[in-house]
Amino acid sequence: MGIAYFTCSICGSTYSSNEVQYTCPRDGANLDVHCDFETADTKPSMKSILFSSEQSIWRYAPLLPAPDPGYAGTPLHQVGMTPVYHPENLRQQLGLQQLWIKDESRNPSASFKDRASAVVVARALQTKEKVIIAASTGNAGAAMACMAASVGMHAIILAPRTAPPAKIAQLLVFGAQVILVDGNYDQAFDLSIAASQTFGWYNRNTGYNPFTAEGKKTAAFEIWEQVLRKLNPAAPPLNIYIPVGDGNIISGVYKGFQDLLSLGWINRLPRLIGVQAEGSAAIANAFLAGKDTIEPVNAETIADSISVNLPRDGFRALRAVRETHGTYIKVSDEEILQSIPTLGKAGIFVEPAAAAAYAGLTKALKIRQQDPAAPVLVLCTGSGLKDINAAIRSVPAAPVIEPTIQALKKVIYG
Ligand SMILES: *Cc1c(COP(=O)(O)O)cnc(C)c1O
Ligand SMILES: [Zn+2]
Repeated sequence: MGIAYFTCSICGSTYSSNEVQYTCPRDGANLDVHCDFETADTKPSMKSILFSSEQSIWRYAPLLPAPDPGYAGTPLHQVGMTPVYHPENLRQQLGLQQLWIKDESRNPSASFKDRASAVVVARALQTKEKVIIAASTGNAGAAMACMAASVGMHAIILAPRTAPPAKIAQLLVFGAQVILVDGNYDQAFDLSIAASQTFGWYNRNTGYNPFTAEGKKTAAFEIWEQVLRKLNPAAPPLNIYIPVGDGNIISGVYKGFQDLLSLGWINRLPRLIGVQAEGSAAIANAFLAGKDTIEPVNAETIADSISVNLPRDGFRALRAVRETHGTYIKVSDEEILQSIPTLGKAGIFVEPAAAAAYAGLTKALKIRQQDPAAPVLVLCTGSGLKDINAAIRSVPAAPVIEPTIQALKKVIYG
């Protein structure tokens, strides 16, 4: 419920909770947050979490760096506890023994990013921030605007002028102050940091604010409750497919499992498999070349939520996969698009970035990098309603007919 200390993910320096706010002062790297439960004499009670009636991420408040902020009747208290499905048709089609799909579109702003924004806003309330700013091209900004609206905090979003209109609409409707920057995401990112320094606004940026990963780790806690606790301990470890752009989701999920391991609530880590689009694969390229340094790319993919030139959390994203004996997989835009209607046939409507995770699983099975006897979970991170153009491209157009029974008969029976 509080912070014990921070460590730098690269140089390992340790900082007390009031010594730093964002990144490592020595090298600018991302900080790992260590919560007070790690150093406390009495550990949090597993039973009180498992029997909690709270159906949101706030059931894990004892494992988070900021206390439950209240606002029970708002979207801030509806983040997380997203469902896991086990679609039998997809399981059979893939030839797997066990398959789960965790549907993050069920979060208040319809993506995984609500987890991060909820914990960042809780932290901002705790430190009495008045204004919160972020650079975002889409889901992160929408999530922050939604969470800020829940608590009546002023949110400023800097988005590149070229951001898709549908995503800008969501930001505006949630009442954020949206400012379009005549430049790319990286320039908006740098401007938001300069604005934080100049005006004292609290900055939420992914790969900068250490609390985003703390919010994202709640997905690991839910996977533990919803899936891991029910698995046969003698079975191979759970394989989790995660779409990767900046690498903050996979780093956060890894952190959550690390927390559970350090508490002794699990005795081994699941295997994390990062999936990147071929045209935006800076982290996968480094992993597959066995390197620690990440070379930026000129990202180009239909999956805009994972389209990143220079990943902001790449180092930790490599660590998460290496330390869980996982791997990285690259998928083409074609494979991503194909996965949209495949998931649709199980009643799940995803945006391209989320479809990429499923495409990664399909490909891993095909190239024999996934044991079909091992249990598998796919993290579907965002709703298909976020990107209607991609959805329409992924399916054949509907026929248009005259309003007669003959015409209907002809189109259905031929
Ligand atoms: C942000 C996002 C991702 C990727 O998360 P990173 O932390 O950038 O790796 C994947 N899917 C969706 C829907 C997202 O919004
Ligand atoms: Zn450092």
